[in-house]
Amino acid sequence: SGILTQHTRSLLRLEKEFTVSGQRLQTLVRHMVQEMKKGLAADGHQLKMIPSFVVRRPTGNETGSVLALDLGGSNFRVCEVYLEGQGRLRMRHRKYVVGDDLKRASGRVLFDFFAEKIEGFLDEIGADKAIERNLGFTFSFPVGQPALAQGHLLHWNKGFQCEGVVNRDVVQLLAEALNRRNLKIKVTALVNDTVGTLISHAYTDPQTHIGVILGTGTNAAYFERIEEIGKWTGPNETGEMVINTEWGAYCEPSVLPITPYDLALDRASTAPKMQIFEKMISGMYLGEIVRYVLLDLISTGELFKGRGSKKLDTPYNFETANMSRIERDHSLELSDTKAVLEDILGIPTTSIGDRRVVKTVCELVGTRAARLSAAGIAAIVTKMNRLDACTVALDGSVFEHYPHFANRMRDALREMLGITAENIILELGRDGSGQGAALIAAIHH
Ligand code: ADP
Repeated sequence: SGILTQHTRSLLRLEKEFTVSGQRLQTLVRHMVQEMKKGLAADGHQLKMIPSFVVRRPTGNETGSVLALDLGGSNFRVCEVYLEGQGRLRMRHRKYVVGDDLKRASGRVLFDFFAEKIEGFLDEIGADKAIERNLGFTFSFPVGQPALAQGHLLHWNKGFQCEGVVNRDVVQLLAEALNRRNLKIKVTALVNDTVGTLISHAYTDPQTHIGVILGTGTNAAYFERIEEIGKWTGPNETGEMVINTEWGAYCEPSVLPITPYDLALDRASTAPKMQIFEKMISGMYLGEIVRYVLLDLISTGELFKGRGSKKLDTPYNFETANMSRIERDHSLELSDTKAVLEDILGIPTTSIGDRRVVKTVCELVGTRAARLSAAGIAAIVTKMNRLDACTVALDGSVFEHYPHFANRMRDALREMLGITAENIILELGRDGSGQGAALIAAIHH
């Protein structure tokens, strides 16, 4: 029973550290709105609020074949979108895994890999390679973008470290790689995945004003009125433009519920002090936060009788997908949780008490992530003044597969916005970023 009270005490402490009250979320929303305004007015703020050069929505009358290449994080997709007009399109795509070796290879190897896979895909679908095609390049990393088809990488994240890419134009790097294979493909648009997700969903639902990614990383884009973008000096063709917020970089220690575990994770990460919001929300990091909490509870003897495992000692070895399995486990003995801990992570033995603690830790970390991402959405909707009706297109494995994630977001939206939260529709826009990039390449040239 001594152990039990110790368990309870630790859980109470963790609950306090990870729980974000509705009031705290409201403070966060107010502060994020301020930061959004600062980022729209000038460069050099927490939120980069990057103009995307995407100034219109698809009408549905577009026709022809367009390609898209989509680098998200863990995966890389090649798509061919055939626009039939009348709001109809057909898409064929193929997905490739981006392994850790490739994430650390040279930029040349990375881009040659893309070109090779694009050629392979065209061969596979029997496309006539003599025909010239436009390509939309979805590149989901922070870029400085002076034009729709131009953008230099500001810095890598999500575990990428390919040298020779930072400060270079990634459109040009891709075009050169395509050239080395003599492919007649013109890269006409550089698109962030959030922007692609937004535009692809807007193709079928014109009320869609926001695109959000909750995958390896997290980010959001939305339609902003040109006159609100103080730093924009270019032309005003349509009165609006999609803004890529890069909200993953948001970092305000006075409003974010940062725990000692978040600090430890950040210190050990490849880019300390960067992407703080992302490190509390996205798939790359949620399991790692849980791992830090478990190591702490093991070190005090509160979990697994103080016995961990080599696997649990290894950074990033507790995958966020394991949290999904554990949160989905409603069995009496928590047998699936046992399987994750003992079979996958190699913990010698676990008691039912241990497994309940682990499940609670996952719930705390997962709920905090859902509530923080909901605060980001509430901030954007507030900034847009769209509390009357707004559809949000969301994509990424965390939104799609993490149990209760969407409902926890809805609960938080209700706590922040009251009844008006009902006007915010969260919808899964699966694999929209590639399709969106192709649509953008089709409507802007
Ligand atoms: P992308 O890399 O393009 O963002 P995803 O949207 O698939 O790709 O996100 C991958 C991230 O989602 C990884 O960090 C992974 O840990 C996490 N993930 C994969 N499967 C699940 C799952 N079932 N539940 C929660 N997270 C998951």
